[in-house]
Amino acid sequence: MTLLTFRFAPSPNGDLHLGHAYSALLNQKLARAGGGRLLLRIEDIDMARCTPQFEAGVLADLKWLGLDWEQPVRRQSEHFGEYQAVLQQLIGEELVYPAFMSRGDIRAFITGSEKRGRDWPRDPDGVPLYPPSDKALPMKERKRRIADNEPFAWRLDTDAVMARVGRDLAWAEFTDETLSATRSVEARPRDWGDVIVARRDIPTSYHLAVVMDDALQGISHVVRGQDLFSATGVQRLLQEVLGLPRPAYFHHRLILGPDGRKLSKSLGDTGLATLRRAGATPDDIRRMIGL
Ligand code: GLU
Repeated sequence: MTLLTFRFAPSPNGDLHLGHAYSALLNQKLARAGGGRLLLRIEDIDMARCTPQFEAGVLADLKWLGLDWEQPVRRQSEHFGEYQAVLQQLIGEELVYPAFMSRGDIRAFITGSEKRGRDWPRDPDGVPLYPPSDKALPMKERKRRIADNEPFAWRLDTDAVMARVGRDLAWAEFTDETLSATRSVEARPRDWGDVIVARRDIPTSYHLAVVMDDALQGISHVVRGQDLFSATGVQRLLQEVLGLPRPAYFHHRLILGPDGRKLSKSLGDTGLATLRRAGATPDDIRRMIGL
């Protein structure tokens, strides 16, 4: 039997809240039930928003909760060289292109297009898809603009990658948290348009780092929040084009705030550190999240 390997992968850009506690403890419960491993990964590629202070807080909160994970912890900011190598491969194969439009340029493009009566498509998070103009820039022009130090991001040429892969993709999604059965979910990477794969100063993005790390850490089971369900389609496409193994997924329910909305790291009263200071115990937290 292959060893089951789970992971919890927080971004240290704020304090952990009840939703993170649910995700971490569910991963631990499932790993223990299956005699598997639990790994911890710190997703800190955004070095402007992720700080050592937040990371220390995350680790302290997880220890307090009773999470135990294997060493070493994988910290993404220590692996930029590995991401860079794969990015170079994607650049060489012309599966990514430099995208120069600023947020303002994108807004202006879309306003113009919508004035002409066309609704501009949006991704599942409601963000407008990246306009197609940069994909058509001649290579010479791209090189000139990069040499001129224009800001840009590397975006996936989703159509080119889909053509390279040459078939529809799907992923295995567990039907519930007993992890006893899966269903096949169609991957719809086009819904996200040409996603960012790397930035000028950071040789990766969330999607690229997450698929590489899930592969490098030998993750067999990705258990994470429902909010990442449809992003899995993009990640499945990247796995396929990079020749990476594919884990099975379970996207769990989200813990909602009193207002029925998704928790955010700025919602202080559901923060684990705040609850702990107010006298809550780890058992209280488990009760609050129904675990
Ligand atoms: N780092 C992501 C977050 O904190 C989770 C990524 C994942 O589980 O795939 O939301």
